[in-house]
Amino acid sequence: KFDKDFGQHILKNPGISDAIVDKAYLKPTDVVVEVGPGTGNITVRALEKAKKVIAIELDPRMGAEVTKRVQGTPLAKKLEVILGDVIKMPEMPPCDALISNTPYQISSPLIFKMLAMKNPPRVAVLMFQREFAKRLVARPGDALYSRLSVNVNFWATCKHIMKVGKQNFRPPPKVESDVVRIEPLVGSARPDVAFEEFDGLLRIVFNRKNKTLNAAFGVREVLTMCERNYKVYCGLNGIPIDESVVANGAAGGDMDVDMEVDEEEDDADEEGGEEEFGAMDEDEDDEMPAFFKENKEDKDATTKTPARNPKSKVALIVKAKVNKVLTGTGLGDKRARQCDQNDFLKLLLAFHEEGIHFS
Ligand code: SAM
Repeated sequence: KFDKDFGQHILKNPGISDAIVDKAYLKPTDVVVEVGPGTGNITVRALEKAKKVIAIELDPRMGAEVTKRVQGTPLAKKLEVILGDVIKMPEMPPCDALISNTPYQISSPLIFKMLAMKNPPRVAVLMFQREFAKRLVARPGDALYSRLSVNVNFWATCKHIMKVGKQNFRPPPKVESDVVRIEPLVGSARPDVAFEEFDGLLRIVFNRKNKTLNAAFGVREVLTMCERNYKVYCGLNGIPIDESVVANGAAGGDMDVDMEVDEEEDDADEEGGEEEFGAMDEDEDDEMPAFFKENKEDKDATTKTPARNPKSKVALIVKAKVNKVLTGTGLGDKRARQCDQNDFLKLLLAFHEEGIHFS
């Protein structure tokens, strides 16, 4: 009996298992990680082509099943089964290729986990639900464009390989699937910025992707985080706090403006885009940065206390630096949904130039 909570939709068409493995163009020296081997339909094919397959499986019954399937065959010694939740593993085992008929509930975290690897695999061939696969290849301006789309296309190249109808699975899922091939950029092709920094910036701007970047960075919690990180950065690097931005009035006369942007107002998209873009987008990939979540909890307390703390000097300096970056890059009036990866990189480097970091 298959467990729907584990996303268990077993491939019953051997042609598709073959195609998934074929599209990884495995070499006999390759170590492959397979997430969710299930009964081993894909696993056995990968074992035939690679040096080793590390199969990570959450369900012990399935772990036993795949082990039994190769028992007594020459493939057995090439298979290592790790029982557990791949997302909870501190690190994915190093590998040359990643393959998976991905359990739908871990689609997003699995991709992020792979992209964040210091030495990602050469290739990943992954099957996803169609809607999710579309988000991977979404471009600026597309309805499904999200933090996930930007990250995938920044750290990797992503290609649609084939469509797979639901009748190819047992039990059939509710929706159709797609196989994609993702090739992470490696060596000198990999962007020379920290994953956590780039993704940290994207979390902020995609938290409300229909808002301007000025609005995204006008939120008090964002500025507080920038201030905290700026102080840590200066402290760790022995850099004096840069007062020049406020001393020469670079704050653009904005210094007395309250930094707090009403979050309720920020939530209500002026173009009604929230409906148009669907809840899935913001909920799944663009989950709220932790500092927003913390704030939500004591929001009542905040609104009931009209007297605010006077702003510290560093807060004013950081606000001025943020304004300087948004004006200098010319991106302040753009919305995340319209920006491409070069815009985000330009923005990140300009923030770094001012000593402002996001992780
Ligand atoms: N590879 C098999 C196939 O194609 O026939 C099974 C694929 S089925 C869609 C997904 C598999 O992933 C199931 O065996 C399920 O138990 C396993 N799984 C679900 N969540 C997981 C997780 N967090 N970590 C590892 N495996 C997981």
